[in-house]
Parts: sequence; structure tokens; C-alpha cells
Amino acid sequence: MGYYVGLDLGGTNVKAGVVDDRAKVLGKVSKPTHAEGGPDAVVRVMAEAAHEAVAAAGVKMENVERIGIGSPGPIDFDAAVVRATPNMPGWRDVPLRDRITSLTGRPAILENDANAAALGELWAGAGRGLKVTELVMLTLGTGVGSGIIVGGKIIHGAFAMGGESGHMIVVPGGRLCGCGQHGCLEAYTSASATGRRAVEALQSGASSSLARDFANRLDTITAKDVFDAARSGDALANRIVDETATYLGIACVNLCRILDPQMIVFAGGMILAGDMLFDRVRSAFRANTWTVVESKVEIVPALLGNDAGFIGAAAVARNGHRNGQA
Ligand SMILES: [Zn+2]
Repeated sequence: MGYYVGLDLGGTNVKAGVVDDRAKVLGKVSKPTHAEGGPDAVVRVMAEAAHEAVAAAGVKMENVERIGIGSPGPIDFDAAVVRATPNMPGWRDVPLRDRITSLTGRPAILENDANAAALGELWAGAGRGLKVTELVMLTLGTGVGSGIIVGGKIIHGAFAMGGESGHMIVVPGGRLCGCGQHGCLEAYTSASATGRRAVEALQSGASSSLARDFANRLDTITAKDVFDAARSGDALANRIVDETATYLGIACVNLCRILDPQMIVFAGGMILAGDMLFDRVRSAFRANTWTVVESKVEIVPALLGNDAGFIGAAAVARNGHRNGQA
């Protein structure tokens, strides 16, 4: 039986887990990242988390085949270096793979966290047991994170920026995105953008139960509030949810035309809206997809929840050399 350690580097917490060949989680820990301490301190926290997870699993570090690391990017995959992270001070060109190996004695492999999460869903989540090799994952949060798996391998692209489906343009000349482009999928369908589009509609005078419930604090309206209001029959909220679902459905069509995936997986807090979101995305997909052949792609929620980060990192460790490193 092979054992893998997955390390998930987040701005708030570092999560580590030991996962076996059958994707069973044998032990896990979560520790505060203390990002304010800078990269050296964070790397030490990560190594401690790996050692503690191994102890919790009742296995020995020398029996771990490989450690997978999911990190915010951008990442230089050839050098296994984190070039920068948006949320943690002092992270410039940190050789994270080699630092973890020197503190654990095990070979390690470094991957972008959204890519790792996609591989985790393929192996242990939505794609588990289904022989899925072609999968796209979109995480609807503050932004729209994305990972693409083709032929069982993560797509990195020529310049390490591949798989960023959240920044495909769905509206020419549309809303300004944080990346500098206009009209990105992210600028319309992230949880933040969904809440913000509702706020803007209310500020320009649209009538809605949200205007009453959030009087004087319109800017606190979240995607969840919009979905809740839609569920109660509010017309504006339903329009906003429909728009989010339509853009997501169109993005799914575009992804299918380019990649022909078996599965498109959505993750992030917004998937808790369940059928209210997925029925509408699937319906928008059907309304916009071609008629050349029947579309067999499955559009489904992610299944791994809070453990997705370290299970994805463990999946990267298990996939090992298929993506170039270690
Ligand atoms: Zn963008």
C-alpha cells in the first residue's frame, strides 16, 4: 500500500493529510499558517504539519512515497518555485518543493492549488471510480479558480498559466476583472461578483425583497443572500441567479468545444445552493450547446469539501512524474 502526504498551503491555515492508494484519509491536521512570519516560518509550519499528519495516521515518514504540495501561484513548475502569492507577505521565488524535502526527507512535488483540487476531484471526489481522465473544475469563491485535466494530466501550458478558465471572456467589453481583462467569467460568476451584481441592481433602483431586508447595508449582500431571496421567489434575485447560471452554462459549452471533457465540476460555497444552481446551469448549457451530437458531459458539484486541498495535493503526489517533477 502506498502512502502519500498532501499539503495544502492556505493564507489562514496549512492542512496536511496522509492518504493511501485508495484515496482513504488515514490522518489529518490543520495548523495556523502564520503568514505574517514570512516564508521561512510558513515552510516550518508546513513540515510540522506533514510530520503530525504522519503521526496521526500511524505510519512512518520513510514509508511515505511522495509529498504533494498545493500552493497559491504563480508557480515555476520546472524549478518547483513559488514565484509569488497574492495573500502572503515576502513570498518571492520560494523553492518550496526542495525546502519541504529537506525538512521531511521525502521527495515532493509542487502544484498550483486549483490544479491540485481538480486532480483530487478526478481521483477521489466527483470522478471517483468512473475512469475519468478529462475533467475541468471551477471553484466559485472570491474569484473563479480553475484546473483542467487532459489525459489524466494537469494542463500547465507553455508559460505555467494554463487552465485559467475563470478568465475566459464571456462578455466582450464587459465588467472589469481583477486580472485586467474585461468580461471574464470570474467578473460575472464568482460568489463575490454574484453578490455585487445584485447590489448594483438595487443601487440603480431595482425593487426586491433584498432592498427591504438589507436597507442601509446593501453592500453586505452576499451570493448566499441572493440565492436565499431567489428561493423565496424574489424576481430580481432570480434574475441575478439566472444570469450567473447562464454565464456558467456558456462557459461549459466553450470548455466542451475545446476540451470535450467527461465532467465539469463546480466547487466553492456557491454549490451549497444545490439544484437551484445546477438545474439552471445545465439548462443554460442545453440551450446554448450545439446540435451536432448529443452532449454527454456531466455538470456536477465537487464532493471533497474541506479536505479537497490536501486530498488534491496527495493526488498530485500519487500522479508523481506524470506532471514532470520528482
Ligand atoms: Zn479575469
